[in-house]
Amino acid sequence: MQSACFICGGSDYRKVGIVDEFPLLECANCQLQFLSPPPSKAQLDAIYANYYEAWGIHEEAGADMVTEMKTATFNGYLDLVTRHVKSGNFLDVGCATGEMLAAAAKLGFEPYGVEISPEGVATCQTKFGMDRIHGGYLQREIFPSNFFACIMMSDVIEHLPDPEAMKALLLDLLQPGGILVISTPDTGTLSRRVMQRHWPQYKEEHLLYFNRENLSRWLSDSFNILTVDHARKCLSLGYIGQILRREKKRPLLKWFGYIIDKFPNIINKKLIRIHFGELLCIAKKI
Ligand SMILES: [Zn+2]
Repeated sequence: MQSACFICGGSDYRKVGIVDEFPLLECANCQLQFLSPPPSKAQLDAIYANYYEAWGIHEEAGADMVTEMKTATFNGYLDLVTRHVKSGNFLDVGCATGEMLAAAAKLGFEPYGVEISPEGVATCQTKFGMDRIHGGYLQREIFPSNFFACIMMSDVIEHLPDPEAMKALLLDLLQPGGILVISTPDTGTLSRRVMQRHWPQYKEEHLLYFNRENLSRWLSDSFNILTVDHARKCLSLGYIGQILRREKKRPLLKWFGYIIDKFPNIINKKLIRIHFGELLCIAKKI
């Protein structure tokens, strides 16, 4: 028996697929998708034990290339954010190796981060100071209430077992008028509708799948939605080829990855800004 949908209060769900071994349900009213039952805490801990999602920090493309792609991507996000807030305390939830915080600090924000990977914590503490970076999950006692002018949640909310608790915590931590930035997979995108269950964003550690409408609806009781649009990541063609070559189930994509590998470096190293099936939402605390 499912409880009421946390976005719309509905309780009419239909099964729309299987992600690994976990059933994927969709709310008939607001189209929120979620894994139910989700992986256990032990299963998730095992996935996160050695985890740098999407970017592959240790990949053959090299740490320099990954840093360059992340910095370009996050500068694109921050271009939009600084239309609404230009200074103050800035929290990156899941700050990984600190590229977002470095970009924000360069613009004049005071960088703070939380990160579950010990390796990421050590890297960020070296860059930003022991007192700025906290290991583990975001929890209420770490920072004072009304402390942040901006909180960034890039590729985070889809992982949360209790999104309502996180929303309450974010509201507590943000100043009145503070800015919340969310990027997350978008089930409304063409890529999801075309690829269906083969959509690369469907993976067992992604417990929740929003679209632009239901995410806006969820936030709208406490936030004014300023922007909700496609998120664009800056990736090199060489890096995309590398991801495709790891493909296990779709041989055509894998083959295309090997073709890309034959392109000259001057093409493969150039960054291109592409829509990767994610949304970017910027919202202001009421
Ligand atoms: Zn719903």
